[in-house]
Amino acid sequence: MKPISLISNTAEKSVVLSVVVPYFNEIDVLPEFHSRLTKVLDSIEDESEIVYVNDGSTDGSKELVESLPVSSSKVVSISLSRNFGKESAMSAGLEHCNGLAVILIDADLQDPPELIPSMIKEWRKGYDVVNMQRIKREGESWFKRKSAAMFYRLLNFLSKSDIPENVGDFRLLSRQVIDHINEMPERNRYMKGMFVWPGFKQTTIIFKRYARHSGQTKWNYFKLIGLAMDGITSFSISPLRIATVLGSLIAASAFVYGMAIVFKTLVFGVQTHGYASMMAVELALGGVQLLSIGLLGEYIGRIFIETKRRPLYIVQSINERSNVTNVQSTVMEKRA
Ligand code: UDP
Ligand code: MG
Repeated sequence: MKPISLISNTAEKSVVLSVVVPYFNEIDVLPEFHSRLTKVLDSIEDESEIVYVNDGSTDGSKELVESLPVSSSKVVSISLSRNFGKESAMSAGLEHCNGLAVILIDADLQDPPELIPSMIKEWRKGYDVVNMQRIKREGESWFKRKSAAMFYRLLNFLSKSDIPENVGDFRLLSRQVIDHINEMPERNRYMKGMFVWPGFKQTTIIFKRYARHSGQTKWNYFKLIGLAMDGITSFSISPLRIATVLGSLIAASAFVYGMAIVFKTLVFGVQTHGYASMMAVELALGGVQLLSIGLLGEYIGRIFIETKRRPLYIVQSINERSNVTNVQSTVMEKRA
């Protein structure tokens, strides 16, 4: 259920562009980010709003955002009640923005705000999704680049979808696509896949992704493996099929091997040796069984999370500031 706004909707209707910025402890970079972003937004004709989503920051980022200077665009500050993760923070932003075109951008200046006008240009040409593909991942290790490339290849192979490689969350989405994404009920939100799923007209702009302006990435390999598992299991059931096929192949070979042993015993009599081969077979079977059970568990875990139907996030407060209307601030709570 959408929160009931205490502010009249008339002003919001005219918003053409919303820029959604999820952030978590980005106090060092937010002032620079905001000044670069507002400079770009001031230079374009369209009515715009910046929707900052505070994903449970503990470093005073929220207070900073709510004191940032307001120029031509309305500044909305949504604060979640705790850290829900970037995917949920983005969902919160997408559900609370009003623009006809929406741009998702990271706060750490890895995605240059200066590219926004060229993204809008593509949208005006009639594209619903403008993907931003990076040519170079500056400041990222060889291992991270290689593992990311392998992941996308595996994901697209398994899910038969077309999730573009090297495209992060930085992109433009039209109102039509946003409305469809907002209607998707799943709790496991693998956004990179969800942006692609509705379809519509897509285009890609290639850009150079910079190193983080300051601060640390919020991802570690453990979290990235979790995200990769989410990506694969929420967009494909191929791993289950592979487990079934693998299981059948192994069962079939075990049967053949078993027949061979019986035949050998009948012809040549009982022989005591064979410990090594027995162990090898046993271990292989055990391994495959454990792997398959783990795989089943991954899917059951997801079913478990989906059936609880908890809200994706809880909004603690919303603060809106603009130069056109008077300073207004509201506190709302999202109830599922
Ligand atoms: N972020 C967030 N919630 C989190 C983790 C990250 O809102 O739990 C924000 C973060 O502040 C930044 C963006 O998501 O604006 C991208 O995060 P990060 O730079 O850590 O990811 P990377 O660029 O390494 O993929
Ligand atoms: Mg980053």
